[in-house]
Amino acid sequence: MRAVVVDRPNEARLADVDEPTILDPRDAIVRVTATAICGADLLPLGGYVPGFDPETVLGHEFVGVVDTVGDDVAVPVGARVVCSSTTSCGTCAHCRARRTSQCATRSLFGYSGVYPRLDGGQAELVRVPNADRCLLRIPEDLSDERAVFLADILPTGFAALERVGARQTDHVAVLGCGPVGLMAVMCASRFAASVVAVDALEQRRSLAAGFGGVVRAVAPEEAAEAVAEATHGVGADVVVEAAGAAAALDSALTLVRGRGTVSVVGAHFEPDYPLDAGRMFEHEISLRFHIGAPYEDRERLLDLVVGSGLEPDSIVSHRMPLADAVEAYRLFGSRVATKVVLQP
Ligand SMILES: [Zn+2]
Ligand SMILES: [Zn+2]
Repeated sequence: MRAVVVDRPNEARLADVDEPTILDPRDAIVRVTATAICGADLLPLGGYVPGFDPETVLGHEFVGVVDTVGDDVAVPVGARVVCSSTTSCGTCAHCRARRTSQCATRSLFGYSGVYPRLDGGQAELVRVPNADRCLLRIPEDLSDERAVFLADILPTGFAALERVGARQTDHVAVLGCGPVGLMAVMCASRFAASVVAVDALEQRRSLAAGFGGVVRAVAPEEAAEAVAEATHGVGADVVVEAAGAAAALDSALTLVRGRGTVSVVGAHFEPDYPLDAGRMFEHEISLRFHIGAPYEDRERLLDLVVGSGLEPDSIVSHRMPLADAVEAYRLFGSRVATKVVLQP
Protein backbone atom coordinates (compact mmCIF):
# COMPACT_ATOMS: atom_id res chain seq x y z
CA MET A 1 0.00 0.00 0.00
CA ARG A 2 1.03 3.63 -0.35
CA ALA A 3 2.23 5.55 2.68
CA VAL A 4 4.12 8.77 3.45
CA VAL A 5 7.60 8.47 4.95
CA VAL A 6 10.61 10.74 5.41
CA ASP A 7 12.90 10.74 2.37
CA ARG A 8 15.69 13.16 3.28
CA PRO A 9 15.70 16.33 5.39
CA ASN A 10 12.55 18.33 4.62
CA GLU A 11 11.40 15.97 1.86
CA ALA A 12 8.57 13.49 2.22
CA ARG A 13 8.29 10.41 0.00
CA LEU A 14 5.39 8.26 -1.06
CA ALA A 15 6.55 4.71 -0.37
CA ASP A 16 5.14 1.31 -1.11
CA VAL A 17 4.99 -0.49 2.25
CA ASP A 18 3.48 -3.71 3.63
CA GLU A 19 -0.13 -3.51 4.73
CA PRO A 20 -0.49 -3.51 8.53
CA THR A 21 -1.83 -6.62 10.27
CA ILE A 22 -3.48 -7.30 13.61
CA LEU A 23 -0.69 -7.91 16.15
CA ASP A 24 -2.75 -7.92 19.35
CA PRO A 25 -6.40 -8.88 20.07
CA ARG A 26 -7.10 -5.21 20.93
CA ASP A 27 -5.84 -3.91 17.54
CA ALA A 28 -7.96 -2.64 14.69
CA ILE A 29 -6.97 -1.88 11.13
CA VAL A 30 -8.53 1.35 9.85
CA ARG A 31 -8.94 2.21 6.17
CA VAL A 32 -8.00 5.90 6.10
CA THR A 33 -10.40 8.24 4.31
CA ALA A 34 -8.83 11.57 5.32
CA THR A 35 -5.58 12.51 7.02
CA ALA A 36 -4.17 15.92 7.85
CA ILE A 37 -0.59 17.18 7.91
CA CYS A 38 0.36 18.72 11.25
CA GLY A 39 3.23 21.00 12.28
CA ALA A 40 4.45 18.10 14.43
CA ASP A 41 4.96 16.07 11.23
CA LEU A 42 7.58 18.59 10.13
CA LEU A 43 9.83 17.74 13.10
CA PRO A 44 10.80 14.20 11.96
CA LEU A 45 10.85 15.52 8.40
CA GLY A 46 13.36 18.19 9.40
CA GLY A 47 15.54 15.70 11.27
CA TYR A 48 14.67 17.13 14.70
CA VAL A 49 13.50 13.86 16.30
CA PRO A 50 16.40 11.92 17.84
CA GLY A 51 16.36 8.23 16.95
CA PHE A 52 13.56 8.57 14.38
CA ASP A 53 13.28 5.45 12.21
CA PRO A 54 12.98 6.61 8.58
CA GLU A 55 10.64 3.72 7.77
CA THR A 56 8.01 5.08 10.17
CA VAL A 57 4.81 5.99 8.33
CA LEU A 58 3.98 9.63 9.15
CA GLY A 59 0.73 11.14 10.37
CA HIS A 60 -1.23 11.31 13.62
CA GLU A 61 -4.42 13.02 12.43
CA PHE A 62 -6.70 10.64 10.55
CA VAL A 63 -10.28 9.56 10.03
CA GLY A 64 -11.40 6.33 8.44
CA VAL A 65 -13.53 3.22 8.43
CA VAL A 66 -12.76 0.19 10.60
CA ASP A 67 -11.59 -2.52 8.22
CA THR A 68 -10.50 -5.42 10.45
CA VAL A 69 -10.59 -5.96 14.23
CA GLY A 70 -8.86 -8.21 16.75
CA ASP A 71 -10.87 -10.59 18.94
CA ASP A 72 -11.12 -8.18 21.88
CA VAL A 73 -12.31 -5.09 19.98
CA ALA A 74 -15.87 -3.83 20.43
CA VAL A 75 -15.86 -1.15 17.70
CA PRO A 76 -17.48 -2.90 14.72
CA VAL A 77 -16.05 -3.33 11.26
CA GLY A 78 -17.51 -0.61 9.05
CA ALA A 79 -17.72 2.05 11.80
CA ARG A 80 -16.53 5.56 10.88
CA VAL A 81 -13.95 6.70 13.39
CA VAL A 82 -11.47 9.43 14.25
CA CYS A 83 -8.31 8.27 16.00
CA SER A 84 -6.68 10.24 18.81
CA SER A 85 -3.15 11.37 17.96
CA THR A 86 -1.42 9.53 20.80
CA THR A 87 -2.19 6.23 22.44
CA SER A 88 -3.41 6.06 26.03
CA CYS A 89 -3.45 2.77 27.92
CA GLY A 90 -6.29 3.77 30.23
CA THR A 91 -4.82 1.83 33.14
CA CYS A 92 -1.56 3.52 34.24
CA ALA A 93 -1.58 5.97 37.17
CA HIS A 94 -1.66 9.00 34.83
CA CYS A 95 -4.48 7.66 32.66
CA ARG A 96 -6.57 6.72 35.71
CA ALA A 97 -6.13 10.26 37.03
CA ARG A 98 -7.20 11.75 33.66
CA ARG A 99 -3.71 12.93 32.74
CA THR A 100 -3.82 10.94 29.53
CA SER A 101 -1.20 13.00 27.68
CA GLN A 102 1.28 11.72 30.29
CA CYS A 103 0.36 8.02 29.79
CA ALA A 104 3.31 5.90 30.91
CA THR A 105 3.30 3.83 27.69
CA ARG A 106 2.15 6.45 25.18
CA SER A 107 3.11 6.42 21.55
CA LEU A 108 2.39 9.13 19.00
CA PHE A 109 1.12 7.85 15.67
CA GLY A 110 3.68 8.57 12.96
CA TYR A 111 6.57 8.84 15.39
CA SER A 112 9.51 6.78 16.60
CA GLY A 113 12.62 7.56 18.62
CA VAL A 114 11.18 9.77 21.37
CA TYR A 115 8.31 7.27 21.73
CA PRO A 116 8.13 3.60 20.70
CA ARG A 117 7.59 3.42 16.92
CA LEU A 118 3.95 3.51 15.85
CA ASP A 119 3.19 3.85 12.15
CA GLY A 120 0.83 6.70 11.35
CA GLY A 121 -2.22 7.38 9.25
CA GLN A 122 -0.83 9.06 6.13
CA ALA A 123 -1.40 5.75 4.39
CA GLU A 124 -4.19 3.66 2.94
CA LEU A 125 -4.40 1.51 6.09
CA VAL A 126 -3.20 1.98 9.66
CA ARG A 127 -2.96 -0.36 12.65
CA VAL A 128 -4.55 1.15 15.76
CA PRO A 129 -3.53 -0.47 19.07
CA ASN A 130 -5.97 -0.44 21.99
CA ALA A 131 -8.61 0.41 19.39
CA ASP A 132 -11.60 0.74 21.70
CA ARG A 133 -9.79 3.52 23.50
CA CYS A 134 -7.96 5.22 20.61
CA LEU A 135 -10.94 5.36 18.25
CA LEU A 136 -13.94 7.63 18.62
CA ARG A 137 -16.99 6.80 16.51
CA ILE A 138 -18.34 9.76 14.55
CA PRO A 139 -21.86 10.41 13.29
CA GLU A 140 -22.68 9.67 9.65
CA ASP A 141 -23.44 13.30 8.84
CA LEU A 142 -20.09 14.62 10.14
CA SER A 143 -17.62 15.08 7.29
CA ASP A 144 -14.16 13.50 7.40
CA GLU A 145 -12.61 16.91 6.97
CA ARG A 146 -14.35 18.31 10.04
CA ALA A 147 -13.89 15.19 12.16
CA VAL A 148 -10.12 15.00 11.57
CA PHE A 149 -9.68 18.07 13.78
CA LEU A 150 -10.77 16.01 16.80
CA ALA A 151 -7.61 13.89 16.49
CA ASP A 152 -5.25 16.53 17.79
CA ILE A 153 -5.34 20.23 17.09
CA LEU A 154 -8.88 21.13 18.19
CA PRO A 155 -8.36 19.45 21.60
CA THR A 156 -4.95 21.14 21.83
CA GLY A 157 -6.25 24.63 21.04
CA PHE A 158 -9.12 24.04 23.46
CA ALA A 159 -6.78 22.79 26.22
CA ALA A 160 -4.74 25.98 25.95
CA LEU A 161 -7.75 27.85 27.34
CA GLU A 162 -9.63 25.26 29.35
CA ARG A 163 -6.67 24.01 31.41
CA VAL A 164 -5.89 27.51 32.66
CA GLY A 165 -9.49 28.27 33.56
CA ALA A 166 -10.03 30.99 30.93
CA ARG A 167 -13.31 32.77 31.67
CA GLN A 168 -15.97 34.77 29.86
CA THR A 169 -14.66 38.13 31.00
CA ASP A 170 -11.08 37.34 29.98
CA HIS A 171 -9.00 39.20 27.44
CA VAL A 172 -7.06 36.58 25.49
CA ALA A 173 -4.07 36.97 23.19
CA VAL A 174 -2.98 34.16 20.88
CA LEU A 175 0.57 34.30 19.50
CA GLY A 176 0.96 32.31 16.30
CA CYS A 177 -2.02 31.64 14.04
CA GLY A 178 -0.90 28.36 12.57
CA PRO A 179 -3.49 25.58 12.78
CA VAL A 180 -3.26 25.11 16.58
CA GLY A 181 -3.29 28.84 17.24
CA LEU A 182 -6.33 29.22 14.98
CA MET A 183 -8.13 26.52 16.98
CA ALA A 184 -7.39 28.51 20.16
CA VAL A 185 -8.66 31.71 18.52
CA MET A 186 -11.82 29.91 17.37
CA CYS A 187 -12.50 28.53 20.87
CA ALA A 188 -11.69 31.84 22.59
CA SER A 189 -13.90 33.79 20.17
CA ARG A 190 -16.89 31.95 21.63
CA PHE A 191 -16.52 33.27 25.15
CA ALA A 192 -13.73 35.81 25.67
CA ALA A 193 -14.22 39.55 26.16
CA SER A 194 -11.58 40.15 23.48
CA VAL A 195 -9.12 38.11 21.46
CA VAL A 196 -5.96 39.55 19.96
CA ALA A 197 -4.65 37.10 17.35
CA VAL A 198 -1.04 37.64 16.32
CA ASP A 199 0.71 36.33 13.23
CA ALA A 200 3.16 37.64 10.64
CA LEU A 201 1.22 36.15 7.72
CA GLU A 202 -1.72 38.11 6.34
CA GLN A 203 -3.60 34.97 5.21
CA ARG A 204 -3.47 33.55 8.74
CA ARG A 205 -4.56 36.86 10.29
CA SER A 206 -7.51 36.94 7.94
CA LEU A 207 -8.57 33.41 8.96
CA ALA A 208 -8.32 34.44 12.63
CA ALA A 209 -10.37 37.59 12.05
CA GLY A 210 -13.02 35.43 10.38
CA PHE A 211 -13.86 33.84 13.73
CA GLY A 212 -15.85 36.89 14.80
CA GLY A 213 -16.00 40.52 15.76
CA VAL A 214 -14.37 39.90 19.12
CA VAL A 215 -11.13 38.94 17.32
CA ARG A 216 -8.60 41.57 16.33
CA ALA A 217 -5.85 40.10 14.17
CA VAL A 218 -2.53 41.96 14.10
CA ALA A 219 1.10 41.55 13.05
CA PRO A 220 3.68 40.76 15.79
CA GLU A 221 4.95 44.35 15.91
CA GLU A 222 1.41 45.59 16.64
CA ALA A 223 0.67 43.04 19.38
CA ALA A 224 1.70 45.13 22.40
CA GLU A 225 -0.41 48.09 21.31
CA ALA A 226 -3.43 45.91 20.46
CA VAL A 227 -3.34 44.13 23.83
CA ALA A 228 -2.89 47.45 25.66
CA GLU A 229 -5.89 48.92 23.82
CA ALA A 230 -8.10 45.91 24.53
CA THR A 231 -7.18 45.82 28.23
CA HIS A 232 -6.81 49.52 29.13
CA GLY A 233 -3.09 48.97 29.47
CA VAL A 234 -3.42 46.15 32.02
CA GLY A 235 -2.29 43.22 29.85
CA ALA A 236 -3.98 40.02 28.70
CA ASP A 237 -5.51 37.68 31.28
CA VAL A 238 -4.40 34.68 29.22
CA VAL A 239 -1.74 34.62 26.52
CA VAL A 240 -1.69 31.46 24.41
CA GLU A 241 1.76 30.83 22.90
CA ALA A 242 1.06 28.67 19.86
CA ALA A 243 4.10 29.51 17.77
CA GLY A 244 6.59 27.25 19.54
CA ALA A 245 9.40 29.80 19.33
CA ALA A 246 11.53 31.39 22.05
CA ALA A 247 10.76 34.86 20.68
CA ALA A 248 7.02 34.18 20.96
CA LEU A 249 7.44 32.99 24.54
CA ASP A 250 9.42 36.17 25.31
CA SER A 251 6.59 38.20 23.85
CA ALA A 252 3.89 36.23 25.70
CA LEU A 253 5.59 36.94 29.02
CA THR A 254 5.47 40.69 28.33
CA LEU A 255 1.86 40.78 27.06
CA VAL A 256 0.35 38.97 30.06
CA ARG A 257 -0.99 40.99 32.99
CA GLY A 258 0.15 40.65 36.60
CA ARG A 259 -1.22 37.35 38.01
CA GLY A 260 -2.07 36.34 34.46
CA THR A 261 -1.26 33.07 32.73
CA VAL A 262 0.88 32.21 29.73
CA SER A 263 -0.43 28.96 28.26
CA VAL A 264 2.03 27.31 25.89
CA VAL A 265 0.87 24.84 23.23
CA GLY A 266 3.67 25.52 20.73
CA ALA A 267 6.34 22.80 20.82
CA HIS A 268 9.52 23.82 22.65
CA PHE A 269 12.89 22.09 22.83
CA GLU A 270 15.17 24.78 24.30
CA PRO A 271 16.95 23.36 27.38
CA ASP A 272 18.39 26.78 28.21
CA TYR A 273 15.51 29.24 27.76
CA PRO A 274 16.44 32.32 29.83
CA LEU A 275 13.39 32.74 32.07
CA ASP A 276 13.37 36.03 34.01
CA ALA A 277 12.34 34.54 37.36
CA GLY A 278 12.50 37.94 39.05
CA ARG A 279 9.92 39.36 36.70
CA MET A 280 7.80 36.21 36.93
CA PHE A 281 7.82 36.53 40.73
CA GLU A 282 7.19 40.24 40.88
CA HIS A 283 4.22 40.00 38.51
CA GLU A 284 3.05 36.60 39.83
CA ILE A 285 2.90 35.19 36.32
CA SER A 286 1.87 31.57 35.79
CA LEU A 287 3.54 29.68 32.97
CA ARG A 288 1.79 26.48 31.84
CA PHE A 289 2.57 23.98 29.08
CA HIS A 290 0.02 21.71 27.40
CA ILE A 291 0.38 18.96 24.83
CA GLY A 292 -3.38 18.57 24.33
CA ALA A 293 -5.36 15.56 25.52
CA PRO A 294 -7.93 14.31 23.00
CA TYR A 295 -9.11 11.53 25.36
CA GLU A 296 -10.24 14.09 27.91
CA ASP A 297 -11.88 16.56 25.56
CA ARG A 298 -12.89 14.85 22.31
CA GLU A 299 -16.47 13.91 23.28
CA ARG A 300 -17.44 17.40 24.39
CA LEU A 301 -15.69 18.93 21.39
CA LEU A 302 -17.57 16.51 19.12
CA ASP A 303 -20.75 17.86 20.71
CA LEU A 304 -19.66 21.43 19.96
CA VAL A 305 -18.82 20.53 16.36
CA VAL A 306 -22.03 18.60 15.72
CA GLY A 307 -24.46 20.55 17.86
CA SER A 308 -23.10 24.03 18.17
CA GLY A 309 -21.75 24.94 14.76
CA LEU A 310 -18.03 24.82 15.49
CA GLU A 311 -16.36 24.62 12.06
CA PRO A 312 -12.66 23.84 12.56
CA ASP A 313 -12.36 22.79 8.92
CA SER A 314 -12.82 26.41 7.88
CA ILE A 315 -9.00 26.65 8.11
CA VAL A 316 -8.38 23.89 5.55
CA SER A 317 -6.57 25.55 2.65
CA HIS A 318 -5.65 22.51 0.55
CA ARG A 319 -7.36 19.20 -0.17
CA MET A 320 -5.17 16.80 -2.11
CA PRO A 321 -4.94 13.10 -2.92
CA LEU A 322 -2.44 11.09 -0.87
CA ALA A 323 -0.59 10.57 -4.14
CA ASP A 324 0.35 14.28 -4.02
CA ALA A 325 1.71 14.08 -0.45
CA VAL A 326 5.22 15.20 -1.42
CA GLU A 327 3.88 18.42 -2.92
CA ALA A 328 1.47 18.80 0.01
CA TYR A 329 4.39 18.69 2.46
CA ARG A 330 6.21 21.31 0.41
CA LEU A 331 3.21 23.64 0.50
CA PHE A 332 2.69 23.12 4.24
CA GLY A 333 6.38 23.34 5.15
CA SER A 334 6.72 26.64 3.30
CA ARG A 335 3.52 27.95 4.96
CA VAL A 336 1.81 28.47 1.61
CA ALA A 337 -0.78 26.01 2.94
CA THR A 338 -2.39 26.65 6.33
CA LYS A 339 -3.85 23.15 6.75
CA VAL A 340 -3.73 20.28 4.29
CA VAL A 341 -6.10 17.30 4.22
CA LEU A 342 -4.96 14.29 2.19
CA GLN A 343 -7.32 11.69 0.82
CA PRO A 344 -5.92 8.19 0.21
ZN1 LIG B 1 -1.13 17.15 15.02
ZN1 LIG C 1 -1.70 5.17 30.46
